[in-house]
Amino acid sequence: MLQLDSHPTGRHFLQIPGPSPVPDRILRAMSLPTIDHRGPEFGVLGRQVLSGIRQVFKTQHPVIIYPASGTGAWEAALSNTLSPGDHVLMYETGHFASLWQKMATRLGISTEFLAFNGSDEHLPQAPGWRRGVQADLIEARLRKDSEKKIKAVCVVHNETSTGVTSDIASVRRAIDAAGHPALLMVDSISGLASADFRHDEWGVDVTISGSQKGLMLPPGISFNAISPRALEAMKSAKLPRSFWAWDEIVEMNKDGYWPYTPNTNLLYGLSEALDMILGEGLDKVFARHQRWGAGVRAAVNAWGLPIQCADPAVYSPVLTGVITPEGVDADAVRRLIHQRFDLSLGTGLGKLKGRMFRMGHLGDSNDLTLVAMVAGVEMGLKLSGVKLAGSGVQATMDYFAGHAAPAALQKAA
Ligand SMILES: *Cc1c(COP(=O)(O)O)cnc(C)c1O
Repeated sequence: MLQLDSHPTGRHFLQIPGPSPVPDRILRAMSLPTIDHRGPEFGVLGRQVLSGIRQVFKTQHPVIIYPASGTGAWEAALSNTLSPGDHVLMYETGHFASLWQKMATRLGISTEFLAFNGSDEHLPQAPGWRRGVQADLIEARLRKDSEKKIKAVCVVHNETSTGVTSDIASVRRAIDAAGHPALLMVDSISGLASADFRHDEWGVDVTISGSQKGLMLPPGISFNAISPRALEAMKSAKLPRSFWAWDEIVEMNKDGYWPYTPNTNLLYGLSEALDMILGEGLDKVFARHQRWGAGVRAAVNAWGLPIQCADPAVYSPVLTGVITPEGVDADAVRRLIHQRFDLSLGTGLGKLKGRMFRMGHLGDSNDLTLVAMVAGVEMGLKLSGVKLAGSGVQATMDYFAGHAAPAALQKAA
């Protein structure tokens, strides 16, 4: 049992970029009694969430919901569309892109990992981990593949390890410009429902997502949005799959049911989340996250610390990575902030370990919770002996005060 008696007063500040803070409304919806997953009420719930989630992916085609973390949905995307020894082109934007590439290799897929080939003054060990996908590199590689050996192009939409987004429409244009038949698979585990995403319009064949980031749910369900071309590819794909197999699930989903026991209470939560997100309107949801991101970046700029994302055109609206000065262990700063202020920040992953930390601005947040997060980080940096150029708290307050949320987001007077 968790030692709740030692829990500090007030709310914990869960400012990692997923799991994100879950709104009380969603927690309450999840607390309803579990029902028979073969009974009539369940079919209503199943059909409702399966139709609502398509609106979030912006697709007319099936979306599969798995009782699994995002990693499971990565495996589902690969195993349903590819055969052993198939060659795929992946793009190294950060730690999550690297983990997906490692998984593909373990599944017996032959992978080629494209990366930014320039240099970086702050992070010479990982120059590509500060930028988004360069579609021209993908186009050039596909043009050289005259025998069409490359079966899929795999990219991450919002690289959660770095706070960098990638322009997915430009990747689709690159594939089309090269006249290449490869499938386009996109990890939008942390982008969906926070950053603009359009499965059909951008010609994505499989989009992978998860519950615990933009959808504001606890971890435990994940998604594959699938195009007709991906469903067609499934018919000849030879990688072993059973639990992940799309065909049986798509068939039973037509009536709102699953071949096995789905995650009933998380589906109650999903239903509530869809009401909240679609009720607010996706464009407003995206604008809200953009504004939060700008407010938090104002703090980092005021501190005079480098933002992990080196290209302002692709700043993530979901999280902001902060590079600590040479010699300052970012994990020690995080630990101190957690101990002193009950605030959890994201750690530096993989090649970034100890060199940066991540501040999430997603889930059940608002201007004041984000000002509080910035305050916790500012106190922690000072206590760690980091020389700051100015006050980030002041900069964030100035940003939010000076950039009122659109009227629709404000409370009535
Ligand atoms: C969180 C995340 C994952 C991993 O998902 P799990 O639910 O932890 O399995 C993969 N890719 C991205 C971009 C993520 O943000």
